[in-house]
This record gives sequence, structure tokens and C-alpha cells, in this order.
Amino acid sequence: MKKTALILAAIFLSVSVFSCVRNAPVFASPDPVIVLPGGEAKDAVIPASCKTPFSLDLVPEYRGDPCAAVNGGEPYFTDNEKVATSYEYYSVLDRYGRCGAAVACVGDDLMPTEDREYIGLIKPSGWRSDRYEWIDGEYLFNRCHLIGFQLSGENANERNLITGTRYMNVSGMLPYENLVAEYVRKTKKHVLYRVTPVFRDDEAIARGVLMEAFSTEDNGEGVRFCVFAYNVQPDIILNYLTGENRFNGVLELPEYDFIINVKSGKFHKPTCKYALEISEDNAEHYHGSKQSLTDKGYKACGFCKP
Ligand SMILES: [Zn+2]
Repeated sequence: MKKTALILAAIFLSVSVFSCVRNAPVFASPDPVIVLPGGEAKDAVIPASCKTPFSLDLVPEYRGDPCAAVNGGEPYFTDNEKVATSYEYYSVLDRYGRCGAAVACVGDDLMPTEDREYIGLIKPSGWRSDRYEWIDGEYLFNRCHLIGFQLSGENANERNLITGTRYMNVSGMLPYENLVAEYVRKTKKHVLYRVTPVFRDDEAIARGVLMEAFSTEDNGEGVRFCVFAYNVQPDIILNYLTGENRFNGVLELPEYDFIINVKSGKFHKPTCKYALEISEDNAEHYHGSKQSLTDKGYKACGFCKP
């Protein structure tokens, strides 16, 4: 009996240490909680807590900078969390299927040596594949790694991918991720790194991510930051509850001539051979932006790609 009680206590302890997400189903995951380099799971290394005293109230409203410093740029790690042993940890998804904090002590041995694999099968909370012609890569949303692939080599890990705007991914997160990667590659030392997606209430799309880093062997001399990257996209109005989005109508888009086939719902360049074949009753001349046509529900011709 005593032994059983001890085992139960041990299970309870490890669960309370490692389940950091509010309302997380604590027994939901059969996966190892901590992954050491080489994929070996171990419970000897205690990861940093996934809790921070951070709240969205601390973040100023987005005013054109992709990130804002939080807590004076000082990460919330406690002294006993500042280890110099590589590990990575990903919170279990919460009851809305959303990611929680991801923590890694990034060492050279954690970094990938293989190319990135396909992650397109993962559908993070709020996932949508809306496109806008002026966005780099056209897709509004990316599957954003919390711990970047270049740091941990994690591919299609659903606990590490959130629905993030192209802007947050590239302008907000990547520069900070690169800081960590460059330091670790150069020094072969460790950076404690925590990325926490921040959701408001039960919204499916994170308002942003809190990114914290601290290089442990040199007491934060090399890398030390605490920033919030906004999950916004300039000129897009985003509904964080559902992920629905629309152009704010402010940006001036280039305008062209098109021929719309009102029957098929396709639109063409005026020179397209299929445009010339449309009967007079169904052909409509249009001058405007491509976006204004797709907003109306028309589809671009796959042949002339207007
Ligand atoms: Zn065409």
C-alpha cells in the first residue's frame, strides 16, 4: 500500500510540475514530457515553469512595431530554472485545442541537422488559409513554430504550431529566433528559451506570443530578451475568436482590366483566350483590384492567372 501511495504521489508531483496550461487535460498525453537531444525522454531534467506573471494588460496597443518589450526586456525565468542542459518541452493542448507555452534550453545538440519536413497536415486552432495578393507568400496565416525549427528540429508537432500571421512569423518572431540560433551556433553554449502563445478568453487565435530568452552560461550577457510579438497583419482586420479576416480597405491596391465570366464566376486577363470565348451575355468588363474581385467571390482563371 505504501509503495502504491508513493508511486501515486510521484505521478501527482510530475503532473503538477509539467502540466502548465490552464484547464489542460493533464492525462491527455501519452507522449514523453521532456525530450532530450536525440529524442530520448527523461524526467531528470526539470524544465522551466510554463507560468509567467505576464498578462495582456502589460502590452501596449499595436502601433506599427511588430514587437514590444515586456518587463523591461527581462525574462521571467527564476534562478533555479536557469540550467545549461539541453531539453525541450511542449505543453499539452488545452480544452480548446490550443497550444500552451513551449520551453527549450537550446544547445547545439538540439539543433536539427536534417531539412524541415512537411507540416501542412497540422491544423492549429483557428487555422484558415485565406490569401491576399499583397502579403508575402500570399497566405495571411502561417503555421508558426513556437520553438523555431532551426532551434529544436521539431517538425509536425501540434503542440508547437500556432496560427500566426505572416507578419508575426517573419517580422515579429524570426529576428529573435535568429538571435538565439546565432548565439548557440557560435558559442556552443545554451539559451533558455520560452515562447508562450497568449490567448484572450476562449479565442482561437492568439493575440501574440511572449518570447523570452536567457543565455545561461554567461548569465544573460550573450542573449537576454523578453518581448511580445503581436499576431497582427497590417491592413487586415482579424477576428481572434474565429480567425475570420478582411482587408481594412485602406491600402491602395493596383487596379487592372479584367473580363469576368458572370456565369462561371471566373475572371480573366482581357487577353486570355478563354476570355475571348465567353459569350457576350456572360462577359463583363471590370476595372479594379484583383482583391476586390476575390472579395466578391470570383475566382481567378487558372490559365491566364490574372
Ligand atoms: Zn483566363
